[in-house]
Amino acid sequence: MTTETRLRIAMQKSGRLSDDTQALLKRCGLKLNVSDRRLLAHVANMPIDIMRVRSSDIPGLVMDGVCDLGIVGDNTLEETALERELMGQKSQYFKTTQLNFGGCRLSIAMPEEFNYQGIDSLNGLRFATTYPQLLNRFAKENGINIEFCLLKGSVEVAPRVGLADGICDLVSTGATLEANGLVEVEEIFRSKASLIQTATPLNSEKQSILDTLLPRIQGVMKAKE
Ligand code: ATP
Repeated sequence: MTTETRLRIAMQKSGRLSDDTQALLKRCGLKLNVSDRRLLAHVANMPIDIMRVRSSDIPGLVMDGVCDLGIVGDNTLEETALERELMGQKSQYFKTTQLNFGGCRLSIAMPEEFNYQGIDSLNGLRFATTYPQLLNRFAKENGINIEFCLLKGSVEVAPRVGLADGICDLVSTGATLEANGLVEVEEIFRSKASLIQTATPLNSEKQSILDTLLPRIQGVMKAKE
């Protein structure tokens, strides 16, 4: 069977979504041989290949039709879509299924001593974030001007070292914020993992694999509810 007739699914190589994603695929009956070194893993019992990449690469791979499906956080998806729209790049995809893991929120957090008096008190301030597009959209919708500095990790340290006034970062329990003397003041986006599909039409072989896989994914999600 050629590569074109195997359905290609992008998933996070390692990180917060990778264990749940792998467990979901296994519960759908896919026999995965995920060896750490291999970027493209063959599913032994179905014509499916799993491409293991950085989370932030998944939306683009699906939007460009390199992968047929992807499992990624809505935060990463929306940030990429906004960024690509701005650059005039292709940003279409279908959100096929909302999954019930990877829940978190993108929030603005300020140092404990900051006197928060509503969104207007953020006007003119500088924020460290991995999600400049989502933050920018929030600022525009709320009529405030902000600056941002892009950090891919350790965002919560930025105010303490004088890099930014506040941060805009993902939160689940809030423990990391608290440990860094930060207080959540505005939730700007709620996120869960999603199964996304390329907008590029699938050939009949791939479509029939998808027709087998989708009800299984939906069944696993229902069983977990
Ligand atoms: P990668 O390093 O693979 O490009 P990443 O830096 O976003 O991606 P992780 O920190 O593993 O990697 O997060 C993956 C996804 O997990 C996030 O994009 C988000 O959708 C979800 N997530 C759930 N809870 C949290 C949390 N508390 N902090 C960060 N991400 C979370």
